[in-house]
Amino acid sequence: MMLIPAHHFRDIERKPQYLQPEKCIPPPHPRPAGAMWFIRDGCGIACAIVTWFLVLYAEFVVLFVMLIPSRDYVYSVINGLVFNLLAFLALASHCRAMLTDPGAVPKGNATKEFIESLQLKPGQVVYKCPKCCSIKPDRAHHCSVCKRCIRKMDHHCPWVNNCVGENNQKYFVLFTMYIALISLHALIMVGFHFLHCFEEDWTKCSSFSPPTTVILLILLCFEGLLFLIFTSVMFGTQVHSICTDETGIERLQRKKQRRERRGSWKSVKETFGGDFSLNWFNPFSGPRHPKPLSDRDWVRQVSSVSDTENTETTTEEPSEEPKDEDFAEVVDE
Ligand SMILES: [Zn+2]
Ligand SMILES: [Zn+2]
Repeated sequence: MMLIPAHHFRDIERKPQYLQPEKCIPPPHPRPAGAMWFIRDGCGIACAIVTWFLVLYAEFVVLFVMLIPSRDYVYSVINGLVFNLLAFLALASHCRAMLTDPGAVPKGNATKEFIESLQLKPGQVVYKCPKCCSIKPDRAHHCSVCKRCIRKMDHHCPWVNNCVGENNQKYFVLFTMYIALISLHALIMVGFHFLHCFEEDWTKCSSFSPPTTVILLILLCFEGLLFLIFTSVMFGTQVHSICTDETGIERLQRKKQRRERRGSWKSVKETFGGDFSLNWFNPFSGPRHPKPLSDRDWVRQVSSVSDTENTETTTEEPSEEPKDEDFAEVVDE
């Protein structure tokens, strides 16, 4: 076994201890299986609270300014039920996206014993993350906020205070979809309410004073428009990512995809959990349970050692995989 010379890697030079797998030790208190996943990031927690606050604000205006004072009982009940159901599903998806492990690679597993147990053959490499000392399977990336390597990481979203990865992408897609739907629904109701109030007496169309009613409705309009645009763009991008089986990071890197891509339908089914059913839209039903990683998943094949060296040394080029955070261990041919 040989290590690629350390001087090729800027990051490694700064942290030479990471070159030695014996320095990688599993954390003394590994997370017990089934423990709750929650990222302790002040900015992310603040963004998640703001998200909840904005949904609850919309809920307040829709119920207490528009629906409850309305004299059309059927209109109020139907719209109230639809809006509350969608808002509940949006917040449930938000919780699931935030509290689900997105696919973190075990921390500190790049130990000498583990690498030796993989029995690398000529032309096989393992990529190690010097930041969390773990072996990165294909398509995993290190997130500096979560401080972990995440499988099939798409991006880190502060609004859900978590990475979007293999295991929670479904919840994130549902969250963007339900927020877009409640925004659209709220905008339509505000439109009807304004029309109705212009035709009738303003004092009768809300239990609040006319100026307060107008201010509350205009704020809801702003919020609805902003969120509708933002979440529908996000929803479209995510669906495109799933259909093309390419994560946001891979698209940004414009990396030449040498791997075999799954068909778009297969990729959608894997993300949403099996064949098409109502469960696709249910944030309480998980995606198809990911297979535990086998020895094969940790190892990557390269055509030759010099090929690895070439890709490994292009740390300056942003279009390549961010190799400044990886290094490879290669077997002599
Ligand atoms: Zn890492
Ligand atoms: Zn993250």
